[in-house]
Amino acid sequence: MYKKKINKLFIGTNNHGKVREIRRLLPSKITLDTPKGLKIRSPKENGRSFLENSLIKARYFAKKSNEICLADDSGLEIDIIGKRPGIYSARWAGNKSDFKIAIEKVYKELKKKNIKFNKKIKCRFVCALTMYWPDKKYYQSQGIVEGQLSRKPKGKNGFGYDPIFIPNGYKITFGQMSFSKKTKIDHRYKAFKKIKKFF
Ligand code: IMP
Repeated sequence: MYKKKINKLFIGTNNHGKVREIRRLLPSKITLDTPKGLKIRSPKENGRSFLENSLIKARYFAKKSNEICLADDSGLEIDIIGKRPGIYSARWAGNKSDFKIAIEKVYKELKKKNIKFNKKIKCRFVCALTMYWPDKKYYQSQGIVEGQLSRKPKGKNGFGYDPIFIPNGYKITFGQMSFSKKTKIDHRYKAFKKIKKFF
């Protein structure tokens, strides 16, 4: 697609934690710009999928910055409750980003449907990325890690829904896994691997 290697990228998020994670996943030679310096507010994420939401953010910030922009959108899909929280993963934690509340809501939703843990409750983490060029061309990638829900939250590592997610092939949650291990098998790592060719 684009043969010229990118050495500067605008990261389309106002979330500092996310910028830090993205920094770690990209080659260190890439200079990153963020909306912080330009005081650009984030757009409304009103897409119907992770890919659509990442495109909304990448297109918006590319237009505002006139730079090549990278934006992501991610979350947890639990099959038996209609793939929720899905694109609402962050919103389930409320204004204060309290993931104890979001995790309680997961178990409440299962209880409401009388769903028991006598068989595997399938779920997955999804990370969608969009790279958007000022000439309006864009490239999208997605990374997925499949797994199952834990009967109860376990482990203190990570963030968000990590304590309730057991990746396939493992007996421990992401919350119990070391950071270095998780970040070599997770959805974000897989999505970023697919855009490495641009750098
Ligand atoms: P957004 O991509 O900023 O819209 O929010 C993604 C939300 O999905 C986060 O706030 C977390 O709730 C959840 N999420 C995404 N990736 C992970 C992960 O690796 N571990 C735990 N939760 C995650």
